Amino acid sequence: MTAIEHGVPLAKLTTIGVGGPARALARPCSSAELLDALRFARNEGLDVLTVGLGSNLLASEEGVDALVLRLEGELAEVEIGSGVVSAGGGATNAVCLHRAREAGLGGFEFACAIPGTAGGGVRMNAGAYGRDWSDILARALVVTADGEAWRSPEELGLAYRHSELGPGDVVARVEYRLEPCPPAEIKATVAALVAQRKATQPTNKRTFGSVFKNPPGDLGAGRMLELCGLKGHRIGGAMISPKHANFIENANGATSADCVALMVEARRRARHEFGVELEREVVFAGLPELPSFT
Ligand SMILES: Cc1cc2nc3c(=O)[nH]c(=O)nc-3n(C[C@H](O)[C@H](O)[C@H](O)COP(=O)(O)OP(=O)(O)OC[C@H]3O[C@@H](n4cnc5c(N)ncnc54)[C@H](O)[C@@H]3O)c2cc1C
Repeated sequence: MTAIEHGVPLAKLTTIGVGGPARALARPCSSAELLDALRFARNEGLDVLTVGLGSNLLASEEGVDALVLRLEGELAEVEIGSGVVSAGGGATNAVCLHRAREAGLGGFEFACAIPGTAGGGVRMNAGAYGRDWSDILARALVVTADGEAWRSPEELGLAYRHSELGPGDVVARVEYRLEPCPPAEIKATVAALVAQRKATQPTNKRTFGSVFKNPPGDLGAGRMLELCGLKGHRIGGAMISPKHANFIENANGATSADCVALMVEARRRARHEFGVELEREVVFAGLPELPSFT
């Protein structure tokens, strides 16, 4: 059984740098260690929270009463096959993209500005520039306390920033099916996409990515909140990004309560001005659901 750490602050495990202590933390390095950890959680009656790069996660200041899992070792390794990139659930998108480019495999470029892991990408069906995980995912190995099984994208129920994975379902490995593409072409595409990102989003600030999903229709959540006059709006140490209103920045010692208060205000204004109830994209850990304004 892998070592269990106690009291590690989630602030250290999330890109926004917010969150209190995890009741327990394990860093399994193999499928066997992962299975052990999941069985330990089941025996102890603990919830499970798998954390990738914590790049779409807001954790409570009070801490998270769960076994937090970080996939390391072979669960974060990347291997290249014929037209296939096989990545541990904890492998970062940056490493996967780098390895795919070296191997002359294209199709993953859209993920260049998504700072997460393979497992987090599946869970969120992350995407950008008109593509998402469902476009490249061949299958994912999902481990639960009962064992492991490969699941197809259909079985994972991937939809816009959504999958059917539950909290105890851990993506231990994924296989991406990619197409041959010259490395120089991949490099040029990535450079253009990164430049576009830097121009429009607060890529150099501590955030958890998109706060809300884009509602149906032409008006995205960011533009809607901008029209509500929320750019730069601050509560405590958290601020709605002056660059893109669908991001919350940790401007100065933000707490989870500051971030939630901004989200509540944003939803209230969007409801009032546009009659739209924005749905949160960021995953909450140890936090109650936002109030409804319908
Ligand atoms: C600057 C910035 C830009 C971003 N841009 C985009 C974007 O363009 N498009 C986009 O879709 N997202 C974007 N995001 C959000 C985020 O990067 C993605 O949602 C990413 O896929 C989350 O991956 P993660 O590994 O960090 O997951 P985490 O944030 O750690 O976790 C998110 C969810 O996935 C679950 N999870 C994580 N790993 C696993 C696993 N191995 N098995 C099962 N469940 C798991 C967690 O339990 C949680 O429910 C951005 C974030 C930032 C900070």
